[in-house]
Amino acid sequence: MILLNGKATSNQIKDEIAIEVNQLTKSGIRPPHLAAILVGSDGASLTYVNAKVKACAKAGFTSTLVNLSEDISEQKLLNEIETLNTNPEIDGFIVQLPLPKHIDEQKVLMAVNPDKDVDGFHPMNVGKMALNLPTFLPATPFGILELLERYNVKTSGKHVVVIGRSHIVGSPMSILMAQKRIAGNATVTITHSRTKNLKEITLQADIVVAALGIPEFLTADMVKEDVTVIDVGITRIKDATKKNGYRLAGDVHFDSVSKKASHITPVPGGVGPMTIAMLLKNTLLAAKRRK
Ligand code: NAD
Repeated sequence: MILLNGKATSNQIKDEIAIEVNQLTKSGIRPPHLAAILVGSDGASLTYVNAKVKACAKAGFTSTLVNLSEDISEQKLLNEIETLNTNPEIDGFIVQLPLPKHIDEQKVLMAVNPDKDVDGFHPMNVGKMALNLPTFLPATPFGILELLERYNVKTSGKHVVVIGRSHIVGSPMSILMAQKRIAGNATVTITHSRTKNLKEITLQADIVVAALGIPEFLTADMVKEDVTVIDVGITRIKDATKKNGYRLAGDVHFDSVSKKASHITPVPGGVGPMTIAMLLKNTLLAAKRRK
């Protein structure tokens, strides 16, 4: 079994990005600048945003965190987005999800300037992604493609089963892996909460991407020998033995599935760090386009 080490691979990518940033700054161009808007103080969101800010520093980027109060009005949030849209010092920015219930998420994502939409969530960028045109790919699926590619996992002609159809993971993942690309050319089945006989389908998979948010859902009896398993899930589970009071669980029952798998991602240390690295990659792309 080969562990697809997202932590090590993401560090390698961050080092590669840092070299490029160094070259840019040496030629007199300012480093890429990523901004993040965080509404409220949800623990998990705060952890993710802080990890993104930390990664920016490691790659030599400038970063700005815009922390807004939980009860901010939708209009005020849209005004903040417009400020970032028009600020020439900002190359790209993200709005950390989820947003409080009184804010229309779709309206917010539509307000982001597509040229600065480094999360790749704006409909214009989603459309380009679906047409396989150059754009910002959503960071989590992009990170999975990169991990498969760097570990030389063959995908052409393979049967990929994606569990979950969210706009940020499952749906783009299924589109990208069916396209003509190195980690692509696969035959893809997308499954979701209404799928019947899921186990019959996953048992036919050469590659399973589990992105449903149910801890340890995918068990060994659901996969065939030598399967490649990508575990996207991250759920915080209360654990009194841990200093912070919780542990992170993936969507895959790692202990049993890893015994059958040829390749598998761990949680933590798999898809999560790759997502952050690809956000930096998108921001570097935005900065280069500005240049
Ligand atoms: P979501 O809640 O938006 O979507 C979940 C999907 O799973 C839905 O499409 C639903 O139909 C499907 N689903 C639910 N129950 C199912 C079942 N029993 N069988 C089959 N399908 C089922 O989730 P999301 O935003 O895509 O996130 C999924 C998980 O991935 C979460 O744990 C989230 O925290 C994690 N995540 C991790 C990263 C990362 O960087 N590692 C990034 C995004 C999301």
